[in-house]
Amino acid sequence: MSQEPYYRDTWAEINLSNIDFNIKQLRNRLKEETGIYAVVKANGYGHGDIQIAEQALESGADRLAVSLLDEAIKLRRSGINAPILVMGWIRPQDAIAASEYDVAVTVFQKEWLEQIETEKLKNPLKIHMKWDTGMGRIGIRTTDEMDEILQEINKHPDFKLDAIFTHFATADEEETAYFLKQERRLDELLNHLQKVWPEDVDIHSGNSAASMRFPERMKQFIRFGISMYGMYPSGDVKREKPIELKPAFSLHSHLIHVKKVPAGESLSYGATYTTSEEEWIGTVPVGYADGWIRKLQGFEILVDGKKQPIVGRICMDQFMIRLDQEYSIGSTVTLIGKQKEEEVHMDDVAEYLETINYEIPCTISYRVPRMYVKNGHIVEVENAV
Ligand SMILES: *Cc1c(COP(=O)(O)O)cnc(C)c1O
Repeated sequence: MSQEPYYRDTWAEINLSNIDFNIKQLRNRLKEETGIYAVVKANGYGHGDIQIAEQALESGADRLAVSLLDEAIKLRRSGINAPILVMGWIRPQDAIAASEYDVAVTVFQKEWLEQIETEKLKNPLKIHMKWDTGMGRIGIRTTDEMDEILQEINKHPDFKLDAIFTHFATADEEETAYFLKQERRLDELLNHLQKVWPEDVDIHSGNSAASMRFPERMKQFIRFGISMYGMYPSGDVKREKPIELKPAFSLHSHLIHVKKVPAGESLSYGATYTTSEEEWIGTVPVGYADGWIRKLQGFEILVDGKKQPIVGRICMDQFMIRLDQEYSIGSTVTLIGKQKEEEVHMDDVAEYLETINYEIPCTISYRVPRMYVKNGHIVEVENAV
């Protein structure tokens, strides 16, 4: 247990028991033979990559996936030995570091393989070939491209084809036509691979949406991201609710100032809010530098289990709320999460900002300490400032 202290009145609570719950929910829904990649890119969607990775592996995830080689190396240096995949493109010159740290890389260009200085590889380079079946982002699209890459892999004994994978663009939508089209393309490419490549390779395809909704259609592994953190990938999936999920992230602070303001007084930069009557106004020490962005002006957060609106512009480090009554300094303010019977869900913040829930925890910045809770106990506090 490491307790890095912090000296501010704001923290994100990360509930590791809920990560455990969410993984077990999915585990129960998948076929027994389907393995799980825990996706911990972008600092575990803002939850903390090392802590989430360790919990996920303990809870039954088999492997880890990230976007950047830097993220993978950070996990390795923390002592994690599980297989790690970098799902994004890395620079060819960085393949040496990937092999040194035993990190699998994503490949979809024969030119990329040609540029590897193979004499410098200390260990075999683990390759996952990416197939673009309709996402249109990265990956090979034709059997010709596949053949060229396989030829390059064959040229060097230190190139090891471990797996192939693809990514679905619409698995979170009720309408399944495009998802099924991508699946057909995946199967066509797979048929070709089986003809030309004698060795066994793993296949992984589904994200949270596909793995929760279509568990019987999944291949050897799935890649579990957003729903491991307790969020549904879309409104459609939330309505369908293929499994129960518990959000792991909540955000809290305290009132640091409370005052009674007469009618007709203005608050914060630009004087955009003017009291219409005598009002109780609280100050919360959170601002846009914490990722609590200015567009959240007007959004309602919780004090004493009641929704209270943010009034006036949000500053870099502070904002004001209109309180329904006087509260003492130090009262808990919940920006995301539960208080008594009320809850501000990540989806509420996302909806207010006209974006998706994925974006919200990723945006809560390094300035907010993360407090890890498991079985009701604080097990670690990380302060990245
Ligand atoms: C982020 C990502 C995932 C996880 O997606 P979720 O919708 O968060 O489950 C899976 N695969 C790839 C390639 C990704 O980039």
